Amino acid sequence: ADTALYAAKRSGGRRHAFFHKELAEQARRHLALDGDLRSALANRQFRLHYQPKVSLIDLSLEGFEALLRWEAPGKGMISPGEFIPVAEDTGFIVPLGDWVLDEACRQQREWLDAGMKPVPVAVNISPRHLRHRSAEDFRRIIDSHGLPPELIELEITEGAVMQDLDHALAVLGALKEMGIRVAVDDFGTGHSSLSYLKRLPVTTLKIDRSFIGGIPEEREDIGIVSTIIAMAEILGLDVVAEGVEKNEQANFLRRHNCTLVQGWLTGRPVAPETAVSLLARRLPEHA
Ligand code: C2E
Ligand code: MG
Ligand code: MG
Ligand code: MG
Repeated sequence: ADTALYAAKRSGGRRHAFFHKELAEQARRHLALDGDLRSALANRQFRLHYQPKVSLIDLSLEGFEALLRWEAPGKGMISPGEFIPVAEDTGFIVPLGDWVLDEACRQQREWLDAGMKPVPVAVNISPRHLRHRSAEDFRRIIDSHGLPPELIELEITEGAVMQDLDHALAVLGALKEMGIRVAVDDFGTGHSSLSYLKRLPVTTLKIDRSFIGGIPEEREDIGIVSTIIAMAEILGLDVVAEGVEKNEQANFLRRHNCTLVQGWLTGRPVAPETAVSLLARRLPEHA
């Protein structure tokens, strides 16, 4: 029994040392990547791609979501899933997030000046960015491009709101007063309660794509998605379905009165040069 205990202790100790080493390793990786990210911003290696939000009623373009891309020389395009968590961890997300908002506003201004159809452009705001900025900070960036506030939308997650509820409620309330649209992103995956949702000054719920994936086969997803749509209607919020890839999903959503979708079925994220052709395209007269 003694030797068994000794062995357990030893392996526990080794496991501890292993986790410690893992953490140190991760910290080192994050620090190195943080340096790369900072020079990438200075060297203009970030780009925004734009994914259309489309109405299922007439397939008209109703908005864009700006999605960050890192074009690292020799490494190709690196997806935000790989570097946003690091930027969030190190704090670099604050200047990076400011850049994203500024760049989306600059692009929106350019499109409006070229006479394109005015549709809102949405920008993702990470939890740490939200915590470190006021509504005035966001407003200042939007104003500096002379944009009508309703043509910019901020997407935040439930987690970002819950991390510092008082601050988030104050910022979102002020943004709403200013006419800036706010969407709850990945809705259904966080843990905000219905009572918070009722108090949350937002304009839109975006149904997370993990629920859309099971439509129209899975009973649970059918229930969840139709409930979120019904709830949005009761609360007077717009609702957008994310990750719509199949016609069957679009048909289900249309039947349940969710007419705004974003997904591969109606358009992948594209470079600005391609996005502008979507804005310029006129619907056929008979449509
Ligand atoms: P998100 O805000 O929920 O953005 C939607 C993600 O789903 C995008 O991935 C988009 O390309 C992907 N997507 C859209 N339609 C479909 C579909 O039909 N099927 C599938 N499988 N995927 C689809 P992406 O561009 O890789 O971005 C991932 C996440 O990274 C975003 O999720 C967002 O949380 C974050 N992110 C992207 N850009 C920014 C940014 O500028 N700032 C911050 N803070 N986060 C960003
Ligand atoms: Mg988003
Ligand atoms: Mg989302
Ligand atoms: Mg998502």
